[in-house]
Amino acid sequence: MVDSMTVVYSMQHRDPRDEDLIKGTTGDWEIILGLEVHAQISSKAKLFSGASTEFGAEPNTQVSLVDAALPGMLPVINRYCVEQAVKTGLGLRAKINPYSVFDRKNYFYPDLPQGYQISQFKSPIVGEGEVVIDLAGGRSIAVGIERLHMEQDAGKSVHDLSPGSSHVDLNRSGVALMEIVSKPDMRSSDEARAYVTKLRTILRYLGTCDGNMEEGSLRADVNVSVRRPGEKLGTRCEIKNVNSIRFIGQAIEYEARRQIEILEEGGSITQETRLFDPKAGETRSMRSKEEAHDYRYFPDPDLLPLVLDPADIERIAANLPELPDDKKARLMSEYGLSAYDATVLVGEAATADYYEAVMKSGKPGRDGKLAVNWMTSDLFGALNREGHTIETSPVTPKQLGELVDLITDGTISGRIAKDVFDSMYKTGRDPAEIVEKDGLRQVTDTGAIEAAVDAIMAANPDKVAQAKEKPALAGWFVGQVMKSTSGKANPQVVNEIIAAKLAASSDD
Ligand code: MN
Repeated sequence: MVDSMTVVYSMQHRDPRDEDLIKGTTGDWEIILGLEVHAQISSKAKLFSGASTEFGAEPNTQVSLVDAALPGMLPVINRYCVEQAVKTGLGLRAKINPYSVFDRKNYFYPDLPQGYQISQFKSPIVGEGEVVIDLAGGRSIAVGIERLHMEQDAGKSVHDLSPGSSHVDLNRSGVALMEIVSKPDMRSSDEARAYVTKLRTILRYLGTCDGNMEEGSLRADVNVSVRRPGEKLGTRCEIKNVNSIRFIGQAIEYEARRQIEILEEGGSITQETRLFDPKAGETRSMRSKEEAHDYRYFPDPDLLPLVLDPADIERIAANLPELPDDKKARLMSEYGLSAYDATVLVGEAATADYYEAVMKSGKPGRDGKLAVNWMTSDLFGALNREGHTIETSPVTPKQLGELVDLITDGTISGRIAKDVFDSMYKTGRDPAEIVEKDGLRQVTDTGAIEAAVDAIMAANPDKVAQAKEKPALAGWFVGQVMKSTSGKANPQVVNEIIAAKLAASSDD
Protein backbone atom coordinates (compact mmCIF):
# COMPACT_ATOMS: atom_id res chain seq x y z
CA MET A 1 0.00 0.00 0.00
CA VAL A 2 1.14 3.49 -0.75
CA ASP A 3 0.82 5.55 2.42
CA SER A 4 -2.65 7.05 2.13
CA MET A 5 -1.31 10.60 2.48
CA THR A 6 0.96 10.22 -0.54
CA VAL A 7 -1.62 9.67 -3.27
CA VAL A 8 -2.54 13.16 -4.40
CA TYR A 9 -5.88 13.35 -6.13
CA SER A 10 -5.32 16.61 -7.91
CA MET A 11 -6.39 16.17 -11.48
CA GLN A 12 -9.66 15.51 -13.13
CA HIS A 13 -8.78 13.50 -16.20
CA ARG A 14 -12.15 13.38 -17.87
CA ASP A 15 -15.82 14.22 -17.49
CA PRO A 16 -18.37 11.66 -16.38
CA ARG A 17 -21.09 10.53 -18.73
CA ASP A 18 -24.71 11.02 -17.62
CA GLU A 19 -25.23 7.27 -17.28
CA ASP A 20 -22.29 7.01 -14.86
CA LEU A 21 -23.83 9.50 -12.40
CA ILE A 22 -25.69 8.19 -9.37
CA LYS A 23 -29.08 9.71 -8.62
CA GLY A 24 -29.37 10.78 -5.01
CA THR A 25 -32.44 12.25 -3.34
CA THR A 26 -30.94 15.74 -3.68
CA GLY A 27 -29.39 15.44 -7.16
CA ASP A 28 -26.64 13.69 -9.10
CA TRP A 29 -23.35 12.37 -7.72
CA GLU A 30 -20.15 11.35 -9.43
CA ILE A 31 -17.96 8.47 -8.17
CA ILE A 32 -14.17 8.92 -8.28
CA LEU A 33 -12.17 5.69 -8.22
CA GLY A 34 -8.47 4.90 -8.03
CA LEU A 35 -7.07 1.38 -7.59
CA GLU A 36 -3.91 0.00 -6.01
CA VAL A 37 -3.43 -3.52 -7.32
CA HIS A 38 -1.02 -5.96 -5.71
CA ALA A 39 0.16 -8.46 -8.31
CA GLN A 40 2.40 -11.37 -7.33
CA ILE A 41 5.38 -11.58 -9.66
CA SER A 42 5.60 -14.92 -11.47
CA SER A 43 8.94 -16.21 -10.20
CA LYS A 44 10.09 -19.52 -8.71
CA ALA A 45 12.01 -17.74 -5.92
CA LYS A 46 11.16 -14.86 -3.58
CA LEU A 47 12.20 -11.21 -3.97
CA PHE A 48 15.22 -11.36 -1.62
CA SER A 49 15.67 -15.10 -0.97
CA GLY A 50 15.89 -18.38 -2.86
CA ALA A 51 12.90 -19.97 -1.11
CA SER A 52 10.16 -21.42 -3.33
CA THR A 53 6.95 -19.51 -4.08
CA GLU A 54 4.88 -22.54 -5.08
CA PHE A 55 1.23 -22.25 -4.02
CA GLY A 56 -0.37 -24.77 -1.69
CA ALA A 57 2.71 -26.11 0.16
CA GLU A 58 2.57 -27.24 3.81
CA PRO A 59 2.78 -24.23 6.14
CA ASN A 60 6.29 -22.92 6.91
CA THR A 61 8.05 -25.27 4.48
CA GLN A 62 9.17 -22.52 2.10
CA VAL A 63 10.90 -20.16 4.49
CA SER A 64 14.55 -19.10 4.28
CA LEU A 65 16.52 -17.39 7.05
CA VAL A 66 15.76 -14.09 5.30
CA ASP A 67 12.01 -14.77 5.16
CA ALA A 68 12.01 -15.64 8.87
CA ALA A 69 14.16 -12.54 9.58
CA LEU A 70 16.67 -14.40 11.72
CA PRO A 71 19.39 -12.15 13.20
CA GLY A 72 22.22 -11.41 10.79
CA MET A 73 20.32 -12.32 7.64
CA LEU A 74 20.95 -10.24 4.53
CA PRO A 75 18.50 -9.83 1.64
CA VAL A 76 19.84 -10.35 -1.91
CA ILE A 77 17.78 -9.00 -4.81
CA ASN A 78 16.35 -11.55 -7.25
CA ARG A 79 17.40 -10.33 -10.70
CA TYR A 80 14.57 -12.19 -12.44
CA CYS A 81 11.93 -10.37 -10.35
CA VAL A 82 13.48 -7.03 -11.34
CA GLU A 83 13.28 -8.01 -15.01
CA GLN A 84 9.64 -9.03 -14.56
CA ALA A 85 8.84 -5.60 -13.05
CA VAL A 86 10.58 -3.83 -15.93
CA LYS A 87 8.71 -5.99 -18.44
CA THR A 88 5.42 -5.09 -16.74
CA GLY A 89 6.29 -1.39 -16.82
CA LEU A 90 6.97 -1.62 -20.55
CA GLY A 91 3.67 -3.47 -21.05
CA LEU A 92 1.90 -0.61 -19.26
CA ARG A 93 3.61 1.86 -21.64
CA ALA A 94 5.22 3.37 -18.57
CA LYS A 95 8.42 5.20 -17.82
CA ILE A 96 11.13 2.85 -16.49
CA ASN A 97 13.26 4.49 -13.81
CA PRO A 98 16.90 3.41 -14.19
CA TYR A 99 17.51 4.36 -10.55
CA SER A 100 15.19 3.14 -7.77
CA VAL A 101 15.50 2.62 -4.03
CA PHE A 102 14.25 0.01 -1.58
CA ASP A 103 12.88 1.44 1.66
CA ARG A 104 11.85 -0.05 4.96
CA LYS A 105 8.17 0.44 5.76
CA ASN A 106 8.02 -0.07 9.51
CA TYR A 107 5.07 -1.64 11.28
CA PHE A 108 4.42 -4.49 13.65
CA TYR A 109 2.32 -7.49 12.77
CA PRO A 110 2.69 -11.14 13.85
CA ASP A 111 3.04 -12.29 10.23
CA LEU A 112 5.86 -9.79 9.56
CA PRO A 113 8.93 -11.12 11.40
CA GLN A 114 11.24 -8.34 10.13
CA GLY A 115 9.09 -5.66 11.75
CA TYR A 116 9.19 -3.85 8.43
CA GLN A 117 8.28 -4.53 4.82
CA ILE A 118 10.92 -3.87 2.17
CA SER A 119 9.13 -1.71 -0.39
CA GLN A 120 9.84 1.24 -2.68
CA PHE A 121 8.58 4.63 -1.59
CA LYS A 122 10.08 7.81 -3.04
CA SER A 123 11.87 6.17 -5.96
CA PRO A 124 9.83 3.36 -7.55
CA ILE A 125 11.17 1.26 -10.42
CA VAL A 126 8.33 2.30 -12.78
CA GLY A 127 6.71 5.72 -13.23
CA GLU A 128 3.69 6.98 -15.16
CA GLY A 129 1.97 4.80 -17.74
CA GLU A 130 -1.43 3.95 -19.16
CA VAL A 131 -3.96 1.15 -19.49
CA VAL A 132 -6.65 1.31 -22.17
CA ILE A 133 -9.84 -0.28 -20.87
CA ASP A 134 -12.58 -1.78 -23.00
CA LEU A 135 -16.17 -0.86 -22.13
CA ALA A 136 -19.60 -1.87 -23.35
CA GLY A 137 -20.42 -1.02 -26.95
CA GLY A 138 -16.79 -1.20 -28.10
CA ARG A 139 -15.94 2.09 -26.30
CA SER A 140 -12.40 2.43 -24.87
CA ILE A 141 -10.88 4.92 -22.41
CA ALA A 142 -7.37 5.37 -21.03
CA VAL A 143 -6.70 5.03 -17.30
CA GLY A 144 -3.49 6.62 -16.08
CA ILE A 145 -0.92 4.62 -14.11
CA GLU A 146 0.75 6.63 -11.37
CA ARG A 147 3.57 4.20 -10.56
CA LEU A 148 4.59 0.57 -10.09
CA HIS A 149 6.87 -0.45 -7.25
CA MET A 150 8.26 -3.74 -5.99
CA GLU A 151 7.78 -4.96 -2.44
CA GLN A 152 7.67 -8.07 -0.26
CA ASP A 153 4.49 -9.86 0.70
CA ALA A 154 3.89 -10.67 4.39
CA GLY A 155 3.12 -14.08 5.89
CA LYS A 156 -0.35 -15.19 6.88
CA SER A 157 -2.00 -15.34 10.31
CA VAL A 158 -4.31 -18.34 10.68
CA HIS A 159 -7.00 -17.85 13.32
CA ASP A 160 -9.33 -20.78 12.67
CA LEU A 161 -7.07 -23.81 13.25
CA SER A 162 -7.40 -24.09 17.02
CA PRO A 163 -9.79 -22.34 19.39
CA GLY A 164 -7.24 -21.01 21.89
CA SER A 165 -4.42 -19.80 19.64
CA SER A 166 -3.46 -18.25 16.34
CA HIS A 167 -0.87 -19.67 13.93
CA VAL A 168 1.51 -17.98 11.51
CA ASP A 169 2.44 -19.37 8.08
CA LEU A 170 5.49 -17.67 6.59
CA ASN A 171 5.38 -19.34 3.15
CA ARG A 172 4.25 -16.09 1.57
CA SER A 173 6.70 -14.00 3.59
CA GLY A 174 9.08 -12.32 1.13
CA VAL A 175 7.19 -13.28 -2.03
CA ALA A 176 7.69 -10.57 -4.68
CA LEU A 177 4.79 -8.23 -5.37
CA MET A 178 4.27 -5.40 -7.81
CA GLU A 179 2.02 -2.68 -6.47
CA ILE A 180 0.42 -0.97 -9.46
CA VAL A 181 -1.19 2.36 -8.55
CA SER A 182 -3.71 3.93 -10.94
CA LYS A 183 -4.65 7.57 -11.16
CA PRO A 184 -8.16 8.39 -9.92
CA ASP A 185 -9.44 8.14 -13.48
CA MET A 186 -12.36 5.74 -13.12
CA ARG A 187 -15.95 6.91 -12.75
CA SER A 188 -18.07 3.76 -12.32
CA SER A 189 -17.88 0.22 -10.97
CA ASP A 190 -18.03 -1.01 -14.59
CA GLU A 191 -14.88 0.96 -15.37
CA ALA A 192 -13.08 -0.36 -12.28
CA ARG A 193 -13.98 -3.94 -13.20
CA ALA A 194 -12.89 -3.36 -16.80
CA TYR A 195 -9.61 -1.90 -15.50
CA VAL A 196 -8.73 -4.92 -13.34
CA THR A 197 -9.82 -7.29 -16.12
CA LYS A 198 -7.58 -5.52 -18.63
CA LEU A 199 -4.65 -5.23 -16.23
CA ARG A 200 -4.90 -8.97 -15.54
CA THR A 201 -4.99 -9.73 -19.28
CA ILE A 202 -1.86 -7.62 -19.85
CA LEU A 203 0.00 -9.30 -16.96
CA ARG A 204 -0.93 -12.73 -18.29
CA TYR A 205 0.21 -11.87 -21.83
CA LEU A 206 3.51 -10.68 -20.36
CA GLY A 207 3.85 -13.76 -18.14
CA THR A 208 4.73 -11.52 -15.17
CA CYS A 209 1.76 -12.50 -12.93
CA ASP A 210 -0.64 -15.42 -13.30
CA GLY A 211 -3.56 -13.17 -12.29
CA ASN A 212 -5.09 -15.93 -10.17
CA MET A 213 -7.33 -14.02 -7.76
CA GLU A 214 -8.54 -17.14 -5.90
CA GLU A 215 -4.94 -17.90 -4.90
CA GLY A 216 -4.29 -14.27 -3.94
CA SER A 217 -1.93 -13.55 -6.86
CA LEU A 218 -3.92 -10.41 -7.68
CA ARG A 219 -5.85 -8.26 -5.22
CA ALA A 220 -7.03 -4.68 -5.22
CA ASP A 221 -7.28 -1.81 -2.75
CA VAL A 222 -10.09 0.40 -4.01
CA ASN A 223 -10.17 4.14 -3.25
CA VAL A 224 -13.71 5.53 -3.41
CA SER A 225 -14.98 9.08 -3.05
CA VAL A 226 -18.05 10.93 -4.35
CA ARG A 227 -18.75 14.52 -5.30
CA ARG A 228 -21.26 16.70 -7.11
CA PRO A 229 -20.24 16.85 -10.81
CA GLY A 230 -17.74 19.67 -11.30
CA GLU A 231 -17.06 20.21 -7.60
CA LYS A 232 -13.76 19.55 -5.84
CA LEU A 233 -12.82 16.04 -4.80
CA GLY A 234 -14.47 14.56 -1.72
CA THR A 235 -12.87 12.67 1.16
CA ARG A 236 -12.08 9.12 0.14
CA CYS A 237 -12.20 5.74 1.81
CA GLU A 238 -9.92 2.84 0.90
CA ILE A 239 -11.38 -0.66 0.70
CA LYS A 240 -8.52 -3.12 1.30
CA ASN A 241 -7.66 -6.42 -0.34
CA VAL A 242 -10.68 -7.12 -2.51
CA ASN A 243 -9.96 -10.43 -4.20
CA SER A 244 -12.46 -10.86 -7.01
CA ILE A 245 -13.59 -8.66 -9.87
CA ARG A 246 -17.24 -9.17 -8.94
CA PHE A 247 -16.56 -8.13 -5.32
CA ILE A 248 -14.74 -5.00 -6.56
CA GLY A 249 -17.94 -3.96 -8.36
CA GLN A 250 -20.14 -4.76 -5.35
CA ALA A 251 -17.84 -2.98 -2.87
CA ILE A 252 -17.81 0.20 -4.99
CA GLU A 253 -21.59 0.25 -5.44
CA TYR A 254 -22.15 -0.19 -1.72
CA GLU A 255 -19.48 2.28 -0.63
CA ALA A 256 -20.60 5.03 -3.04
CA ARG A 257 -24.20 4.71 -1.83
CA ARG A 258 -23.06 4.80 1.79
CA GLN A 259 -21.08 8.01 1.24
CA ILE A 260 -23.90 9.68 -0.72
CA GLU A 261 -26.41 8.90 2.04
CA ILE A 262 -24.16 10.42 4.70
CA LEU A 263 -23.55 13.56 2.64
CA GLU A 264 -27.20 14.02 1.71
CA GLU A 265 -28.14 13.86 5.38
CA GLY A 266 -25.69 16.69 6.05
CA GLY A 267 -22.89 14.52 7.46
CA SER A 268 -19.27 14.29 6.38
CA ILE A 269 -17.04 11.42 5.29
CA THR A 270 -14.28 10.24 7.62
CA GLN A 271 -11.14 9.22 5.76
CA GLU A 272 -10.59 5.61 6.74
CA THR A 273 -9.62 2.12 5.70
CA ARG A 274 -12.53 -0.27 5.23
CA LEU A 275 -12.97 -3.92 4.35
CA PHE A 276 -15.57 -5.56 2.12
CA ASP A 277 -17.62 -8.41 3.56
CA PRO A 278 -18.87 -10.43 0.56
CA LYS A 279 -21.40 -12.38 2.67
CA ALA A 280 -23.11 -9.24 3.96
CA GLY A 281 -22.41 -7.31 0.73
CA GLU A 282 -21.20 -4.29 2.72
CA THR A 283 -18.04 -2.40 3.64
CA ARG A 284 -17.05 -1.91 7.29
CA SER A 285 -14.57 0.36 9.03
CA MET A 286 -11.14 -1.13 9.85
CA ARG A 287 -9.22 1.91 11.03
CA SER A 288 -9.67 5.66 10.79
CA LYS A 289 -7.28 8.40 9.79
CA GLU A 290 -6.59 9.21 13.44
CA GLU A 291 -5.07 5.77 13.91
CA ALA A 292 -3.44 5.76 10.47
CA HIS A 293 0.07 4.34 10.39
CA ASP A 294 3.18 6.42 10.25
CA TYR A 295 5.50 3.96 8.57
CA ARG A 296 8.73 5.93 9.10
CA TYR A 297 10.07 4.97 5.68
CA PHE A 298 13.82 5.09 5.24
CA PRO A 299 16.18 3.55 2.67
CA ASP A 300 17.04 -0.05 3.59
CA PRO A 301 20.72 0.02 4.63
CA ASP A 302 21.08 -3.67 3.65
CA LEU A 303 20.34 -2.90 0.00
CA LEU A 304 22.10 -0.67 -2.49
CA PRO A 305 20.00 1.51 -4.79
CA LEU A 306 18.82 -0.49 -7.78
CA VAL A 307 20.55 0.76 -10.94
CA LEU A 308 19.36 -0.70 -14.24
CA ASP A 309 21.58 -1.15 -17.28
CA PRO A 310 19.90 0.55 -20.29
CA ALA A 311 20.98 -2.41 -22.44
CA ASP A 312 18.92 -4.72 -20.21
CA ILE A 313 15.85 -2.52 -20.57
CA GLU A 314 16.30 -2.49 -24.36
CA ARG A 315 16.68 -6.27 -24.46
CA ILE A 316 13.48 -6.76 -22.44
CA ALA A 317 11.62 -4.25 -24.64
CA ALA A 318 12.77 -6.03 -27.79
CA ASN A 319 11.38 -9.32 -26.50
CA LEU A 320 7.92 -8.19 -25.41
CA PRO A 321 5.08 -10.33 -26.75
CA GLU A 322 2.31 -8.81 -28.85
CA LEU A 323 0.10 -7.01 -26.30
CA PRO A 324 -3.71 -7.18 -26.16
CA ASP A 325 -4.33 -3.72 -27.68
CA ASP A 326 -2.01 -4.40 -30.60
CA LYS A 327 -3.52 -7.84 -31.11
CA LYS A 328 -7.02 -6.35 -31.05
CA ALA A 329 -6.14 -3.73 -33.68
CA ARG A 330 -4.51 -6.38 -35.86
CA LEU A 331 -7.47 -8.80 -35.64
CA MET A 332 -9.83 -5.96 -36.58
CA SER A 333 -7.83 -4.99 -39.64
CA GLU A 334 -6.80 -8.50 -40.76
CA TYR A 335 -10.16 -10.21 -40.37
CA GLY A 336 -12.61 -7.28 -40.48
CA LEU A 337 -13.81 -7.90 -36.91
CA SER A 338 -15.80 -5.44 -34.82
CA ALA A 339 -14.16 -3.86 -31.77
CA TYR A 340 -16.47 -5.93 -29.58
CA ASP A 341 -15.57 -9.29 -31.17
CA ALA A 342 -11.86 -8.48 -31.18
CA THR A 343 -12.02 -7.50 -27.48
CA VAL A 344 -13.65 -10.82 -26.59
CA LEU A 345 -11.01 -12.76 -28.51
CA VAL A 346 -7.96 -11.02 -27.01
CA GLY A 347 -9.22 -11.40 -23.41
CA GLU A 348 -7.12 -14.58 -23.19
CA ALA A 349 -4.13 -15.14 -25.45
CA ALA A 350 -5.19 -18.78 -26.00
CA THR A 351 -8.59 -17.66 -27.32
CA ALA A 352 -7.03 -15.29 -29.83
CA ASP A 353 -4.57 -18.03 -30.84
CA TYR A 354 -7.43 -20.47 -31.45
CA TYR A 355 -9.26 -17.93 -33.61
CA GLU A 356 -6.18 -17.24 -35.69
CA ALA A 357 -5.63 -20.96 -36.13
CA VAL A 358 -9.24 -21.26 -37.40
CA MET A 359 -8.67 -18.46 -39.89
CA LYS A 360 -5.29 -19.73 -41.08
CA SER A 361 -6.24 -23.41 -41.42
CA GLY A 362 -8.39 -23.03 -44.53
CA LYS A 363 -8.48 -21.18 -47.82
CA PRO A 364 -8.22 -17.39 -47.62
CA GLY A 365 -11.58 -15.65 -47.43
CA ARG A 366 -13.10 -17.78 -44.69
CA ASP A 367 -15.97 -15.87 -43.01
CA GLY A 368 -14.23 -14.32 -39.98
CA LYS A 369 -17.41 -12.97 -38.38
CA LEU A 370 -19.17 -16.33 -38.65
CA ALA A 371 -16.10 -18.01 -37.12
CA VAL A 372 -16.19 -15.64 -34.09
CA ASN A 373 -19.89 -16.29 -33.63
CA TRP A 374 -19.39 -20.06 -33.59
CA MET A 375 -16.49 -19.74 -31.16
CA THR A 376 -18.18 -17.42 -28.70
CA SER A 377 -21.62 -19.03 -28.70
CA ASP A 378 -21.54 -22.76 -29.47
CA LEU A 379 -17.91 -23.61 -28.73
CA PHE A 380 -17.59 -21.52 -25.52
CA GLY A 381 -21.01 -22.79 -24.40
CA ALA A 382 -19.98 -26.43 -24.82
CA LEU A 383 -16.55 -25.89 -23.23
CA ASN A 384 -18.17 -24.24 -20.18
CA ARG A 385 -20.75 -26.99 -19.81
CA GLU A 386 -18.13 -29.74 -20.01
CA GLY A 387 -15.49 -28.02 -17.88
CA HIS A 388 -13.03 -27.78 -20.77
CA THR A 389 -10.82 -24.84 -21.66
CA ILE A 390 -10.01 -23.64 -25.16
CA GLU A 391 -6.65 -25.44 -24.85
CA THR A 392 -8.40 -28.80 -24.27
CA SER A 393 -11.19 -28.26 -26.82
CA PRO A 394 -12.25 -31.55 -28.48
CA VAL A 395 -13.05 -29.52 -31.62
CA THR A 396 -9.85 -28.40 -33.35
CA PRO A 397 -9.53 -24.98 -35.02
CA LYS A 398 -9.30 -26.70 -38.40
CA GLN A 399 -12.56 -28.57 -37.80
CA LEU A 400 -14.42 -25.44 -36.66
CA GLY A 401 -13.14 -23.64 -39.77
CA GLU A 402 -14.44 -26.46 -41.99
CA LEU A 403 -17.85 -26.21 -40.34
CA VAL A 404 -17.93 -22.49 -41.07
CA ASP A 405 -17.11 -23.20 -44.73
CA LEU A 406 -19.92 -25.78 -45.00
CA ILE A 407 -22.40 -23.13 -43.81
CA THR A 408 -20.97 -20.40 -46.04
CA ASP A 409 -21.08 -22.50 -49.22
CA GLY A 410 -24.66 -23.67 -48.51
CA THR A 411 -23.85 -27.36 -47.93
CA ILE A 412 -25.68 -27.23 -44.59
CA SER A 413 -28.05 -24.73 -42.98
CA GLY A 414 -27.18 -22.90 -39.77
CA ARG A 415 -29.80 -25.01 -38.03
CA ILE A 416 -28.29 -28.34 -39.13
CA ALA A 417 -24.82 -26.99 -38.35
CA LYS A 418 -25.76 -27.04 -34.67
CA ASP A 419 -26.36 -30.79 -34.83
CA VAL A 420 -23.13 -31.29 -36.78
CA PHE A 421 -21.26 -29.28 -34.15
CA ASP A 422 -22.71 -31.35 -31.30
CA SER A 423 -21.60 -34.50 -33.08
CA MET A 424 -18.11 -33.05 -33.73
CA TYR A 425 -17.79 -32.14 -30.06
CA LYS A 426 -18.88 -35.60 -28.86
CA THR A 427 -17.04 -37.78 -31.39
CA GLY A 428 -14.13 -35.65 -32.64
CA ARG A 429 -15.13 -36.45 -36.25
CA ASP A 430 -14.64 -33.97 -39.10
CA PRO A 431 -17.76 -32.01 -40.09
CA ALA A 432 -17.69 -33.07 -43.77
CA GLU A 433 -17.66 -36.73 -42.72
CA ILE A 434 -20.62 -36.20 -40.37
CA VAL A 435 -22.62 -34.38 -43.06
CA GLU A 436 -22.04 -37.19 -45.62
CA LYS A 437 -22.44 -40.21 -43.34
CA ASP A 438 -25.53 -38.83 -41.56
CA GLY A 439 -27.08 -37.49 -44.79
CA LEU A 440 -27.35 -33.91 -43.53
CA ARG A 441 -26.61 -32.11 -46.76
CA GLN A 442 -28.99 -29.19 -47.28
CA VAL A 443 -31.72 -29.71 -49.91
CA THR A 444 -31.64 -26.76 -52.29
CA ASP A 445 -33.14 -28.72 -55.19
CA THR A 446 -36.30 -26.70 -55.89
CA GLY A 447 -38.04 -29.70 -57.48
CA ALA A 448 -37.76 -31.76 -54.28
CA ILE A 449 -38.89 -28.86 -52.12
CA GLU A 450 -41.82 -28.06 -54.45
CA ALA A 451 -42.97 -31.66 -54.22
CA ALA A 452 -42.91 -31.47 -50.41
CA VAL A 453 -44.84 -28.17 -50.45
CA ASP A 454 -47.44 -29.54 -52.88
CA ALA A 455 -48.00 -32.63 -50.76
CA ILE A 456 -48.60 -30.59 -47.62
CA MET A 457 -50.89 -28.12 -49.38
CA ALA A 458 -52.94 -30.92 -50.92
CA ALA A 459 -53.38 -32.54 -47.50
CA ASN A 460 -54.41 -29.26 -45.81
CA PRO A 461 -56.82 -27.33 -48.08
CA ASP A 462 -58.33 -25.51 -45.04
CA LYS A 463 -54.89 -24.13 -44.04
CA VAL A 464 -54.27 -23.02 -47.63
CA ALA A 465 -57.55 -21.07 -47.57
CA GLN A 466 -56.64 -19.45 -44.24
CA ALA A 467 -53.13 -18.55 -45.40
CA LYS A 468 -54.53 -16.85 -48.45
CA GLU A 469 -56.59 -14.60 -46.13
CA LYS A 470 -53.73 -14.08 -43.68
CA PRO A 471 -50.27 -14.33 -45.31
CA ALA A 472 -48.63 -14.54 -41.84
CA LEU A 473 -50.00 -18.09 -41.60
CA ALA A 474 -47.57 -19.17 -44.36
CA GLY A 475 -45.13 -19.82 -41.50
CA TRP A 476 -47.11 -22.94 -40.62
CA PHE A 477 -46.30 -24.41 -44.05
CA VAL A 478 -42.62 -23.56 -43.66
CA GLY A 479 -42.59 -25.47 -40.37
CA GLN A 480 -44.28 -28.48 -41.96
CA VAL A 481 -41.86 -28.59 -44.90
CA MET A 482 -38.84 -28.34 -42.60
CA LYS A 483 -40.29 -31.16 -40.53
CA SER A 484 -40.93 -33.40 -43.53
CA THR A 485 -37.37 -32.84 -44.78
CA SER A 486 -35.81 -33.35 -41.31
CA GLY A 487 -34.69 -29.72 -41.30
CA LYS A 488 -32.52 -30.19 -44.38
CA ALA A 489 -34.48 -28.02 -46.81
CA ASN A 490 -32.87 -24.66 -47.51
CA PRO A 491 -35.15 -22.34 -45.47
CA GLN A 492 -34.83 -19.46 -47.92
CA VAL A 493 -35.88 -21.62 -50.88
CA VAL A 494 -38.78 -23.06 -48.84
CA ASN A 495 -40.03 -19.56 -47.99
CA GLU A 496 -39.86 -18.44 -51.61
CA ILE A 497 -41.70 -21.49 -52.98
CA ILE A 498 -44.49 -21.31 -50.39
CA ALA A 499 -45.00 -17.59 -51.02
CA ALA A 500 -45.14 -18.17 -54.76
CA LYS A 501 -47.58 -21.11 -54.48
CA LEU A 502 -49.93 -19.25 -52.14
CA ALA A 503 -49.90 -16.20 -54.42
CA ALA A 504 -50.54 -18.38 -57.46
CA SER A 505 -53.46 -20.19 -55.84
CA SER A 506 -54.98 -16.82 -54.79
CA ASP A 507 -55.07 -15.80 -58.44
CA ASP A 508 -57.18 -18.85 -59.34
MN1 MN B 1 1.60 -2.42 -0.91
